[in-house]
Amino acid sequence: MIPYKHEPFTDFTQKENAEAIQAAIEKVNGELGKDYPLVIGGEKVTTEGKITSYNPANKEEVIGRVSKANQELAERAMQEALTAFDSWRHVDPAVRADVLFKAANIVRKRKHEFSAYLVKEAGKPWNEADADTAEAIDFMEYYARQMLELKPGKKVESRPGEYNRYDYIPLGVGIVISPWNFPFAIMAGTAVAAIVAGNTILLKPASTTPIVAAKFVEVMEEAGLPKGVLNFIPGPGAEVGDYLVDHPKTRFISFTGSRDVGLRINERASKLNEGQIWLKRVIAEMGGKDTIVVDESADLELAAQSIVKSAFGFSGQKCSACSRAVIVDSVYDTVLDRVVELTNELSVGNTEKNEHFMGPVIDASAFKKITSYFDVAKEEGRIVAGGKADDSTGYFIEPTVVADVDPKARLMQEEIFGPIVAFTKAKDFKEAIDIANNTEYGLTGAVLTRDRMNQEYARQNFHVGNLYFNRGCTGAIVGYQPFGGFNMSGTDSKAGGPDYIQLHMQAKTTSETF
Ligand code: NAD
Repeated sequence: MIPYKHEPFTDFTQKENAEAIQAAIEKVNGELGKDYPLVIGGEKVTTEGKITSYNPANKEEVIGRVSKANQELAERAMQEALTAFDSWRHVDPAVRADVLFKAANIVRKRKHEFSAYLVKEAGKPWNEADADTAEAIDFMEYYARQMLELKPGKKVESRPGEYNRYDYIPLGVGIVISPWNFPFAIMAGTAVAAIVAGNTILLKPASTTPIVAAKFVEVMEEAGLPKGVLNFIPGPGAEVGDYLVDHPKTRFISFTGSRDVGLRINERASKLNEGQIWLKRVIAEMGGKDTIVVDESADLELAAQSIVKSAFGFSGQKCSACSRAVIVDSVYDTVLDRVVELTNELSVGNTEKNEHFMGPVIDASAFKKITSYFDVAKEEGRIVAGGKADDSTGYFIEPTVVADVDPKARLMQEEIFGPIVAFTKAKDFKEAIDIANNTEYGLTGAVLTRDRMNQEYARQNFHVGNLYFNRGCTGAIVGYQPFGGFNMSGTDSKAGGPDYIQLHMQAKTTSETF
């Protein structure tokens, strides 16, 4: 077995790589507007109602349409998943892992095509799309290996005349609900972790990015996944989501998305329904309000670059995006001025030709929500860069920097999920860490410092699931920086980490006496 290593990122400054993705975008442009079915028990089901996926950079352009599940179809999918579970759970874990290895290879061969879909459907710049595809491959490679490691079970002691074993067995049928911001990586990662562990699933992708999910479902079929293991049921969150979360046969829910929907799922999943004989397990990875802290000893150029990249990469639409910069008083003006300079150099527009650092935000409602914070920004601070938006052709918002914001202000507390970063001043490093900790979230954070004692203070006191030193706060890599947050950021499942697969399993002790 080749040891796990993360998928390298593509260098698009190389002519042949740029040409390869351009060719893939051309190919995808030729496939736009197609219809994609639901997949239930291996059967392709076409419904009259459709979810239409649009290009956020070009509102009129339809990427494709997927059939839309309702409660009746969700119930059918549940029955198919229950039936498939009876056989899939007994399939050798090594064979289940092989399906993931094969799927990873299929995607690797068609890497730029998948990235092209992410450019078109999610408005990602090439490098962000490439990272999303690479992460999807990583999840498959990493979780497959993890399953192989878990296959023999874990060591327990046995006394003379006794043989004890400790094995992991799957849970049952899981509902996998994914967000639109990593429409490939998170969707595929959460799905394959559940599957390789021996569960069967109902996959409900986000309604703004269902096409890349439909393409992934095709890959899993091609890789040899048996019918009924992965059922594809895009549909309205409230209707299909609630129905399945409440369902007595649902054994677990793997959700990634916003705080409010996560709380709703957690609450509903805790209720015992007629015919239900277990406590449902909930994996919920939710929002963030992530902070970069800079002290007076830091490399200030690196600090400014890190803030800009973490705040505005993929238009700030990452749960890990930096939306708060807390800077120690004596270097506040220097860092802020440099961030403003760098921000003013960024361009925003359609990323299809890779001419812009930033693309659009995902849809009309995101555009409305994010731009509503411009007024808040004027009340709570000073807009020193950006502050304008244009939705005439796509949902474009300028990268925006807001200075002199109070640590308790809305801009410093609420997840905006767009390209807005708020700056606040701290009198010293300890106060900076207190401010960094003053939200209800706890997902990522970064500290820029050359002071070893400050670094250690942050390691102990900055309460986030993913803390980075002397770099930005985005860009966790599967198997290298397992990802998940504290507090209202969710259950800290640590996707891409050594304990993730077990969350989809239960341990069984057997003891034989000779
Ligand atoms: P969202 O909560 O609006 O939607 C997520 C998914 O939940 C979608 O598939 C949606 O259709 C579904 N859904 C909606 N209502 C539902 C219901 N009642 N029952 C079941 N499912 C329902 O989130 P989003 O806008 O797609 O994604 C952005 C959010 O996700 C941000 O808050 C971001 O921070 C968070 N996020 C977190 C992580 C992480 O790992 N912590 C990663 C990516 C995104």
